Amino acid sequence: MSDDKLQNVVSLAKRRGFVFQSSEIYGGLKSAYDYGPLGVELKRNISNAWWKAIVHAREDVVGLDAAIFMHPKVWKASGHLAEFSDPLVDCLNCGGRFRADKAPKASPGAEVTFQAGGRKDGEERSGTVQERGYVCPICGCPDLSKERQFNLMFRTSIGPVDPLDKAIREIAKSSLSAQEIRKLIDEALAPSSIYLRPETAQAIFVQYQNVQQSLGMKVPFGIAQIGKAFRNEIITEKFIFRTCEFEQMELEYFVEPGTEAEWLEHWANARMAWWKSFANDPSKFRLRPHGVDELAHYASACYDIEYEYPWGWDELEGIASRTDYDLSKHSQESGAKLHYFDQQKEDPETKKPGYRYTPYVIEPSAGLTRGLLVYLLDAYAEEKGVDADGKDKTRKVLKLHPRLSPIKVAILPLVKKDGLPEYAEKISKEFFDAGVNSRFDEQQSIGKRYAKHDEIGTPFCVTIDHKTLEDETVTIRDRDSTEQRRIPSVAVVDFVKGALVAGDSE
Ligand code: ATP
Repeated sequence: MSDDKLQNVVSLAKRRGFVFQSSEIYGGLKSAYDYGPLGVELKRNISNAWWKAIVHAREDVVGLDAAIFMHPKVWKASGHLAEFSDPLVDCLNCGGRFRADKAPKASPGAEVTFQAGGRKDGEERSGTVQERGYVCPICGCPDLSKERQFNLMFRTSIGPVDPLDKAIREIAKSSLSAQEIRKLIDEALAPSSIYLRPETAQAIFVQYQNVQQSLGMKVPFGIAQIGKAFRNEIITEKFIFRTCEFEQMELEYFVEPGTEAEWLEHWANARMAWWKSFANDPSKFRLRPHGVDELAHYASACYDIEYEYPWGWDELEGIASRTDYDLSKHSQESGAKLHYFDQQKEDPETKKPGYRYTPYVIEPSAGLTRGLLVYLLDAYAEEKGVDADGKDKTRKVLKLHPRLSPIKVAILPLVKKDGLPEYAEKISKEFFDAGVNSRFDEQQSIGKRYAKHDEIGTPFCVTIDHKTLEDETVTIRDRDSTEQRRIPSVAVVDFVKGALVAGDSE
């Protein structure tokens, strides 16, 4: 099933209202997705669980919700303007455009075959793999353009003046070369240029001093943020795994220099345990330390939390030890003193009381939308069984952790008459009053309703039948085992609430 698993999850996500392609009626935008009625609940449940574990359950972490637009100097200081790029390559055979670092490896000098133009019916050709040691991921051809660094930040303009107005007038009067025109346009755009943030982290560094001082935070402490990030990815791929607009859950945890190695271990283990605590199959998560050659220029050590997706192991979260790189760079560029002063501590150099230093940072940086895909893949199951007439049938079920399930309980009157809907509505109201997300559902046969709620991951179905009217009991059906038991209707809210708390593994 695993080859088709992504496809099955994509189609369930659309059919049942989890994730839709952006602007689908206009042909869709592959690089962005919309979260439908159930997707928005699932996404919120994941981000609320993260916030609870990272912020509410700890004294040493506080939150931030910063603007997406930031002063352009932020991106100069952080290195994003100069460094936040991927190596872009064009295939000279099929015209495909791809990332060199993600291309399939091949031994330099090896002869490989490919189809002309990348067409299935194209003539077979052969070529020699160049020194760079990879081929086109689309057609396998080794004839490729040079690598060019492609900056992933989206640039836009701020302010009510059209920045290109003057440049266009000058170009119209001139006989400038293409290069000169580009220079003129770049110069015209520069004063009003602003970038969509490619990560949420930089706002945390920039607000370090305000947060530390306003709350009197003592190192070690952290600032957490959940929000949108934007990257002009060369290739968007695998549904919501890699998109141009996505959401991150990031923590910057400030520590005393010299303690970063132990804090890196702490956060790597804590984050692994968190992801696994909501998963059916924890063996599909692994912690992979980065090799020295993989480390970003600012990092002294890094782990990736990886998930075994249908296409293999790939990243879900990065946990980097970023030294004092970010705070130092922003101090230099802005002139602000992004330090920490510990009155109690002796300065290791002067041996006098009072130690001023730039904190080191441990950064657990997780993808929220990528995490949503991981939990959909983890939860999706197809189970073989037989129906009431003894015929083979396949049950599709989303075995989401009850805390992540969009709807916690479905309230189902067996038939639409005899006072059963009225009784069911009364139970629905009790769930509303108790703050449990429930859905009253009276359409279609009871079997179809069970199947629908299995597919959207509702952990419990409460059925109201004629016996309910006689003895005030209801049946409660468990999504995973499909077992049903009768319990007094007055006990049903507490039963479901108890199961939700029992599923609370933090
Ligand atoms: P990748 O190697 O997959 O490009 P990255 O190393 O560039 O990811 P980070 O900059 O470490 O990613 O971002 C932290 C997290 O944000 C990633 O682990 C991932 O979950 C998420 N993320 C990054 N880029 C995207 C994207 N384009 N679409 C969806 N999620 C993303």
